[in-house]
Formats: sequence, structure tokens, C-alpha cells
Amino acid sequence: MRTLLRPIQIRMISPMERPCHNDGGVTVHRPLISAPHMIVPRRTDVSTPVNVVLIGPPGCGKGTQAVRLAERHGIPHISTGEILRGAVRAGSELGRQVADTLVKGSLVSDDLMTDLVRERLAQPDTARGCVLDGFPRTVVQSRVLDGMMSAVLLIVMLIDVPDAEIVRRMGTRRVCDACRLTQSVSDALHPDSEPCPYCGGNLVRRPDDEPETVRHRLATYTASATPVIEHYRLRPSFAIVDGRQHSDKVAAAMAAHIESLITNP
Ligand code: AMP
Repeated sequence: MRTLLRPIQIRMISPMERPCHNDGGVTVHRPLISAPHMIVPRRTDVSTPVNVVLIGPPGCGKGTQAVRLAERHGIPHISTGEILRGAVRAGSELGRQVADTLVKGSLVSDDLMTDLVRERLAQPDTARGCVLDGFPRTVVQSRVLDGMMSAVLLIVMLIDVPDAEIVRRMGTRRVCDACRLTQSVSDALHPDSEPCPYCGGNLVRRPDDEPETVRHRLATYTASATPVIEHYRLRPSFAIVDGRQHSDKVAAAMAAHIESLITNP
């Protein structure tokens, strides 16, 4: 019997509820941002460059928020994970180099990643900024990015979600193999190859969303993110957003942080 599919739904959490500040080994030193209002008017001129780095565990909603930010500011969303997965699908030289690493959930080398991002940031569509999703993942990458962004304001936001919530979300996450839309199914044991309710493609589990790989990715994230967060945390442009909130509230909190920095840099 077919189980009813539904688009991703994240539990609405009151702004008064605060997540644990040291989940997943990430020590949080600044208050979490929760936006009281869902709509943050855009006061910045469209020509104001906006360069954002989003940090957060796999499954924290980074991709969704990155797309929203990119649309709001008319800038490209650069997901290093998506670039690498695209290369694997295309069977390119890069794809062959990284395929095993992606399936294991380990990190691709700093040299390869920094070259890839340097090349991407040289494209003309990044002149008014970009949203980096999945990069930097190590302190080496952070330092190289600082060099590439030395002339502009780099806004860094951490989407904070506890490990237990991540494991629950990833177990029910599926991606459509045709329209690439990420959706959630009713339970983690849901079989693959159900039709996508939007385009009829197959809803499949990403190979790196297999439970064993998720645990490895979370451990890898915790080990690599902690020093990256330390690298940024004292900068005024750094903020921590409560990722357990409804995605609209996460988006509003981020928008408020960006607006406050750009209007009062
Ligand atoms: P993501 O979709 O961001 O979770 O990335 C999927 C996979 O791509 C990761 O598990 C890594 O194997 C690889 N990857 C993506 N971005 C980076 C990065 N900045 N440094 C190293 N490996 C990366």
C-alpha cells in the first residue's frame, strides 16, 4: 500500500524555546537569534553586495535557507556538495576523483575544494555576492576564503540543530531523481522509488543519507565545524540561528541579521 507523501514539515517552535547550547560538541558563545516577525523588509539597495557563509550540520536546512537568501538578494547559491554530486552524476574527472569520498561521507581535500571555490567565485555572477553552502568546512578552507573575500564583508551564520533532530530528519529525507526537490516521507523505513508528488519522478534516499553514513557525516561535521566556528565566532558578522524553528522564522532571523549588518556595517 502506498504511504501518503508530504513536503518537508518542520515542527513550529516558540521563539521562547531555546536549543541546548552545546549539542553535537559545538560550543555556542553567542545568543541564538530568533526573529519575532516573519517578514523582514529589505532595506538594502539591490546593488549592495551580500556574501554569506552558511554553516550547520547536514540536514539542518542550510540548502533551503541558502536558496531563499539567494533569491532575496539576487545572488548565486553555491553548494559545494551539489557541485560535487553533479560532477559524480556527470561522470567527469572531478566526479571520479570524489565519488568514493562522498559515499563514505568524508571530506574532500582542502586543495581540491579551495581550487573549486576559487574558480566558482571568479565567475561574473558573484559580483554582487553569493551564498556559500557547505564551504568552508575546515580552518584551512576558512583562511583561504578570508583571502578571497578580504575586500568585502563576509557574513557567517550557523544554523544550530541538535544531533537527535538531525538523525530524525535525515531518516525521512528523500530527493526526487527527476526534479531534484528534497522532500520528507512519513517514516524512515519508507521504501525508495515512490513517485514524486510534484513531477512523478522517483523519490530516492541520497546515498549519503544512509543511516551509517549520516552518523559518520555528523561526527565529521562536529570535528570539522568546531574549529571553523571558533575561527569566525568573535566577528560581529557572525550569528547563530536556532535551526529548530519553522523555516520561515529561520529565514526571518537571517534576513534581520544581514539587514542589520548592511545598514550599519
Ligand atoms: P553537503 O551536501 O554539503 O553535505 O556535502 C556532501 C559531501 O560533499 C560532503 O559529505 C563531503 O564529502 C563533500 N564536501 C562538500 N563540501 C565540502 C568541503 N567544503 N570540504 C570538503 N568536502 C566537502
